[in-house]
Amino acid sequence: MPKKATKKDIEFIKEHFLVTYNDAVTELEYKNDYELLIAIILSAQCTDKRVNIITPALFQKYPDTLSLSIASLEEVKELLKSCSFFNNKAKNIIKMAQSVEDNYESIIPHDIKQLIKLSGVGNKTAKVFMIEADGANLMAVDTHVFRVAHRLGLASGKTVEQIEEQLVKKLKDDLHIFHQAMVLFGRYVCKAVSPDCNNCALVPVCKSKGRFAVGS
Ligand code: SF4
Repeated sequence: MPKKATKKDIEFIKEHFLVTYNDAVTELEYKNDYELLIAIILSAQCTDKRVNIITPALFQKYPDTLSLSIASLEEVKELLKSCSFFNNKAKNIIKMAQSVEDNYESIIPHDIKQLIKLSGVGNKTAKVFMIEADGANLMAVDTHVFRVAHRLGLASGKTVEQIEEQLVKKLKDDLHIFHQAMVLFGRYVCKAVSPDCNNCALVPVCKSKGRFAVGS
């Protein structure tokens, strides 16, 4: 098990993330709240690249919650078929659009409690939406954040909830930046398989580097 990051390590990590990823945003492509929420729902267990291939045709055919709320399930499934869990995702986004039409006058709510009542929107999806749309001071833990938090000794929890709680406690502010930073850092540097330790700026504070071949 990796050691815990010290206060000094945490400051070093924060500084690196704030400088390097200050302007980072999601790699999902969207033009408005409706498109953002759907892209986040579709990205569960699916790559952002794949979602970005799927969504242009979906948004062209169904440009808003009204059109999607009355869409044919079979036609939506057809548009989503290259996405993982497309059957459920198709049902969920139609139901989500119906709820937004029925309860929120076609406007996606910017409120965690209201968001998680929508079909297909869990705690993580709601937080990612608030982080991206509003720069909310929230942490959302996906597979990249989970891995990076462990490797850097920022968190030791076994569940997403535990990791989120530990990260919020340690990082405190600018959580939206740290979330985006850890996603991108995990995706391109501290990858699950073959992390790029040779080109990693966090080698001095990493608690896992001994497990990977730095200098090889
Ligand atoms: S040194 Fe390697 S394992 Fe540690 S944070 Fe950097 S890329 Fe990840």
